[in-house]
Amino acid sequence: MTQAKVCFIGAGNMTRSIISGLVTHGYPSDLIHATNPSKGKLDALQQDFAIEVSHDNHAAAKAAEVIVLSVKPQLMASVCEDLSSLDLADKLIITIAAGIPASRYPVYFNQPIKLIRTMPNTPTQIGYGMTGIYADDSISAEHKAICETLMQSGGKVVWVDKEAELDQVIALAGSSPAYFYLFIESMIASGVNMGMAEDKARLLAEQAALGAAQMVIQNQQLSVTELRQNVMSKGGTTARAVETLQQGGLVELVDQAMTNCVARAQEMA
Ligand code: NAD
Repeated sequence: MTQAKVCFIGAGNMTRSIISGLVTHGYPSDLIHATNPSKGKLDALQQDFAIEVSHDNHAAAKAAEVIVLSVKPQLMASVCEDLSSLDLADKLIITIAAGIPASRYPVYFNQPIKLIRTMPNTPTQIGYGMTGIYADDSISAEHKAICETLMQSGGKVVWVDKEAELDQVIALAGSSPAYFYLFIESMIASGVNMGMAEDKARLLAEQAALGAAQMVIQNQQLSVTELRQNVMSKGGTTARAVETLQQGGLVELVDQAMTNCVARAQEMA
């Protein structure tokens, strides 16, 4: 594992998820520092993972080889400007913020920097995350490996060749857990409409979703279409349900939803 002294600026949900994964995978806690204005989150992190914590972004960033920017996008400019008096030439800066293009960070820091942009999703909290990563040609293989180690602690990673592809990562992985939640919600509601108890409907729907995802993952030799066709027999119950979804325009609707998601990401940049 490629290890470096890393400082997380902002100790909220994503930072906690990444640190939890790192420590679980054996990353030395004395190489991890997190900062936050409030004490509660820092105390909890220190207690749970024995990492260093402080309220001092400046000192923590100065001592670190890698700075992970993990505050909300609307606070990013002021947080970076506060650190702009530091010499950042030898440091790797990783941002997990949605929507802010890589070109804006050197402006915030008022100096050239080595930046990697990442786009994680919420299942990172439980080790099933999917993170897209973008770095330009100026970033060394060593820095890429450090970033990969950090982000892999919460799940899988995929490198994208162009920064614009991060918007597609948002549509496919960043936002998509909500699409699946909506589908599961709708199934539970329908089960309840048919008279089933909600807890039973939820158990049936959630286990089917988990089983379907595992079937896709564990049967890479089959296409997803083949997996679907394997559940359907002509004139049967599944065929009736799937045809209803297709005739209602589900495929076109998913395409439209993802296109709109990318457009919104572009508007926000
Ligand atoms: P969060 O609100 O849980 O955490 C942000 C933390 O930053 C808070 O604890 C806040 O107190 C702290 N903070 C505020 N000002 C600060 C300052 N000046 N110095 C240090 N810390 C400060 O947010 P989050 O969900 O962890 O998101 C963090 C970043 O991750 C965001 O930029 C978001 O776009 C990105 N992101 C989040 C998700 C997600 O699903 N939560 C997914 C992808 C990307």
